[in-house]
Amino acid sequence: MPGILCEHCTAACCRYIALPLDEPQTASDFDDIRWYLLHEGIQVFVEDGDWYILISTTCRHLRSDHRCGIYETRPRICREYSTENCDYHSGDYGWQQHFATPEHLDEYLAKHPPRAKRRGRSTRGRRKNLHRRRIEAPRYADAVTDVRGVPLPLLMPGLRG
Ligand code: SF4
Ligand code: SF4
Repeated sequence: MPGILCEHCTAACCRYIALPLDEPQTASDFDDIRWYLLHEGIQVFVEDGDWYILISTTCRHLRSDHRCGIYETRPRICREYSTENCDYHSGDYGWQQHFATPEHLDEYLAKHPPRAKRRGRSTRGRRKNLHRRRIEAPRYADAVTDVRGVPLPLLMPGLRG
């Protein structure tokens, strides 16, 4: 990782992954979000109108001195990340919404009741100014669901280059 800033950081950017979600619209969609939030280490946030799930998990190759253990062969997403607007100093990232618990979602739904029916799927533009280390576009495996039939956001092979 470039930049002297990393010398003062405990590698915040190596301790989570964030994946895009379809924008929830119906009560059923929001119930799925609530299910995510019932799990420890899960947060959901909205930025620039796009919804993301944030999973707190530390990279297997983060060393005890907070340095990368596979620096020469680290993934593309790690190579492209820089100290400019990184996790160390970006504050709240300009989140429009941030849900850390199901109660946060309940508060949101009290003000923004879900729709009765789902509209057509929205198309997302590619964001130019990514702060979080996250995957930009959803590339889900076909028809992979959990035991409840909820689609799982499985990464396609080779997504990280
Ligand atoms: S969060 Fe920023 S300062 Fe910390 S290790 Fe990552 S790039 Fe470096
Ligand atoms: S591969 Fe290295 S830079 Fe990338 S998340 Fe893991 S420890 Fe951090």
